[in-house]
Amino acid sequence: MMLWQQIPDLEDTKKYLSELYIQKRLPHALLLIGEDGNAALPLALGFMQYLHCDHPNGFYPCGECRSCKQTQNLFYPGFHFVLPKFSTSSQKSESEDDTDVASAFYRLFKENPFISYDDVLKEVKGKNKQALISVKDIEQIIQNISYSAVGDKYNIVCIWKPEMMPAAAANKLLKTLEEPPPQSLFLLVSSHPEELLATIISRVQQYRVPAFSEKDITDYLITQFNINQDKAQEIAFISNGNINKAIHILNNYEEYTALLNDFKEFARLAIKFEMASIDQWIKKYESEGREALKRFLEYSLDIFHYSLLQHFHLQDKIKATQQEKDFIAKFYPYANEDNIPKLYELFNDAYHHTVRNANVRILLTDLFLRCNELFKKKVNV
Ligand SMILES: [Zn+2]
Repeated sequence: MMLWQQIPDLEDTKKYLSELYIQKRLPHALLLIGEDGNAALPLALGFMQYLHCDHPNGFYPCGECRSCKQTQNLFYPGFHFVLPKFSTSSQKSESEDDTDVASAFYRLFKENPFISYDDVLKEVKGKNKQALISVKDIEQIIQNISYSAVGDKYNIVCIWKPEMMPAAAANKLLKTLEEPPPQSLFLLVSSHPEELLATIISRVQQYRVPAFSEKDITDYLITQFNINQDKAQEIAFISNGNINKAIHILNNYEEYTALLNDFKEFARLAIKFEMASIDQWIKKYESEGREALKRFLEYSLDIFHYSLLQHFHLQDKIKATQQEKDFIAKFYPYANEDNIPKLYELFNDAYHHTVRNANVRILLTDLFLRCNELFKKKVNV
């Protein structure tokens, strides 16, 4: 796959990066900052393809030359890709886990270059395990770049989520950044640069990758998934410039729209406290499982957030569908300045208990009870 061609728009960013190279201003290390699941990672990997292309077409790799053909699958002598893996404390042996994470990444990336690290963890069912970039990973990379000769091309190391690198590994990397091997380029792709060591930050040139526009996402959804304009526009609007979120909503569209109905029913029952119907509601989530419950709890947090925006007359900041907005316009007095901190805490706790295998029935019964009290603090508007 030729990644830059697949990334909608962002022409300024592609131009900026390719001109660094053309004008021989390419630093030894670049930090691309951007939301997980958006353009930063495919841009970095696409930039690797660009730098290895024999006959780039303006600021796009040609896609035809020998290098372009070879770099399409991202396994290539001058490419080194590092991502966080599970620490050795997990059940399986280290090498097994390594392969799991890396191969899950390549599999998912081929289907959708806008994947998030969470997607990879979900794929290997590793959400509760500790993932990191280890000292050994960094040592391995340093060794690899000192041994692989790539002619006049760059030896490129892409480190995805460098913020998941403990201090020992970061210091090891720092030494290399201070004295980089010739013809090497380090591309760090981070969604949380504030978690990086200041010494690392001082050694890299930073570039913030912009989010996509609503139009970019709309067009992308229409061409890639063959859906109609209205639906694409609605999804682009609620995904707030994140293309991965848009794809997830599209792939689970029915479930997504059903969440609003679930929340409406939850709120109605919590306010009226009808035991028999509450029992039915809980049964549904008992049978649907934890992933569904986690999505419901996350969704509820969004609704509370939107309610607060409504209180502050920031309706235009509410990234929701028209149906959701209509509901929030009625619901928001129930979630207000007084009780929202408690609602946030309650639903966040419920989320973490769900992750840790709490009993769903007990958890939800408690949630209904507590919400019954909290929703009584309705304000008059
Ligand atoms: Zn080429």
